[in-house]
Amino acid sequence: MPELPEVETVRRTLAELVIGKTIEQVDVGWAKMIKRPDDVDQFKWLLKGQTIRSMGRRGKFLLFHLDDYTLVSHLRMEGRYGLYQQNESVAKHTHVRFVFGDGTELRYQDVRKFGTMHLFQSGREQMEPPLAKLGVEPFSDQFSAKLLTEHLSKASRKIKSALLDQGIIVGLGNIYVDEALFRARIHPERLAKDVTVAEVKILHQAILNTLTEAVNLGGSSIKSYVNGQGEMGMFQQRLDVYGRKGEACRQCGTPITKTVVGGRGTHFCSVCQK
Ligand SMILES: [Zn+2]
Repeated sequence: MPELPEVETVRRTLAELVIGKTIEQVDVGWAKMIKRPDDVDQFKWLLKGQTIRSMGRRGKFLLFHLDDYTLVSHLRMEGRYGLYQQNESVAKHTHVRFVFGDGTELRYQDVRKFGTMHLFQSGREQMEPPLAKLGVEPFSDQFSAKLLTEHLSKASRKIKSALLDQGIIVGLGNIYVDEALFRARIHPERLAKDVTVAEVKILHQAILNTLTEAVNLGGSSIKSYVNGQGEMGMFQQRLDVYGRKGEACRQCGTPITKTVVGGRGTHFCSVCQK
C-alpha cells in the first residue's frame, strides 16, 4: 500500500499534470468505488464543469481541490492515476475516467478495486470521515517529539502498532515504520509506553528523516506502485530492513529478521534494535 512518500509523489506529479483542467464528463465503471455521494450519477453530475484548482494530501489520501468541491481519493493497495489522450486505448482495470475539455483525460486504474473516492462541498472534507479523525501530519509543526512522547506514553500496545495507528500520526505504513524503528534502534515489539523519552526524541527525528529522504527520491516502488507519471520511486534501494529478510544488516551484518507484529509483516535487526 502506498504510504505518505508515495502519495505525496503522486500528488506532486498530478499537480503538474491536471491543475487548471476542467472536467467535462466523468465515467465510472465500478460504482462501489464511489463512497460519497451515494448516487454515482450525482457524483458525475456534481463534477461536471469543475476545474481542478490544486492538489492536496492528508495522510495517505489525495485531495483534488475543485471550484466547489473536494474529491478525496485513497489508492489503497494498487490504485494509480494516469493522464491520457482521449483517443488512447483504455487499459484493463480502468474504473474511473475524468474527461477534460482539452482532449485529455485522467484515468484511475485499480486491479483490486479497493480504492475509494469521496466528494465533499469544499471545506467539509476535514469534518467528516474518512479524514475527520486522522492524526497529525508528520511534516506539520504540530508533529513534535513532545507530542509523540505524549501519545506513546499512553499506549500499552507494541510500538510498531502504535506508529501504524493513523489516529496518532498519519501517513506511516508498514515500510516506513520498520525503517524508522531501525534507524532509531528500537525493537518493533517493545511496548510503546516503555520507550524512553530520549528514545522517542531519536525516533521522532528518524521518522522525519526517513520520510524526507523517501519523498525526495519519489517514494518506494513496492509491487505495482508507480507515481502519477508512471515512474518508479527510487527509495526502495535505500531500505535497510523492509523486504530484506535474511539479508545482512547494513550496520552489523546480522541477517534481517522478519516476524509478525499486530498482524503485519515486520522486519528488524535483532542485534541493532533493542
Ligand atoms: Zn544490525
